[in-house]
Amino acid sequence: MKRIEEMTLRERLYFPEILRGMMVTSYHFWRNLAIHILQKVGLARGVKAAITVQYPEERWPYPDTYRGRHRLTLKEDNNTVQCTACFLCATACPAECIYIQAGEYPDNSVEKYPIRYEIDTLRCIYCGFCVEACPCDAIRMDSGTHPGNLGLSRQAFVETKEVLMERSKELAKKGKEGLYEEYVRPYRHV
Ligand code: SF4
Ligand code: SF4
Repeated sequence: MKRIEEMTLRERLYFPEILRGMMVTSYHFWRNLAIHILQKVGLARGVKAAITVQYPEERWPYPDTYRGRHRLTLKEDNNTVQCTACFLCATACPAECIYIQAGEYPDNSVEKYPIRYEIDTLRCIYCGFCVEACPCDAIRMDSGTHPGNLGLSRQAFVETKEVLMERSKELAKKGKEGLYEEYVRPYRHV
């Protein structure tokens, strides 16, 4: 980057550069407008114009590796978490937003389980480290939905064990598309 004393008079004025920027923006605006109008009447079909995705009515398909909202995976009974409350996810979490309270099964002296498992989604940066750290495949981010406005209080953004378990059940029942549809429905009527 040039220092101010190295700049020419033209560069110091800024105005020509602002004008150049506006010309580039205007060029793309009018070009896209013209192409979209022509395509509406059946012309210029092969010409590519910029498209704004009308979210949430439309969306780009997410890749399979997309990191969506968390869920806790379930055992075969579909009602117990796989999580053994080992704390590896909480330790790996750079945002320190996972809270776990471990408990013991009365009939199992080895394995533990989380009495409480919470993720503060206001602090979460969706890095996926918790998923990578988990040795039991107990937490995943494959729900296909992204973080949204869950309410007006801070507490509303804390996803509990029950919410994270329910998401697994809903995903199994409705699939990613169904879950996504439910997620965006409130935004469609705003
Ligand atoms: S995605 Fe990253 S920030 Fe969010 S809970 Fe997992 S480890 Fe923490
Ligand atoms: S989600 Fe995985 S890493 Fe986190 S406490 Fe449970 S078993 Fe351990």
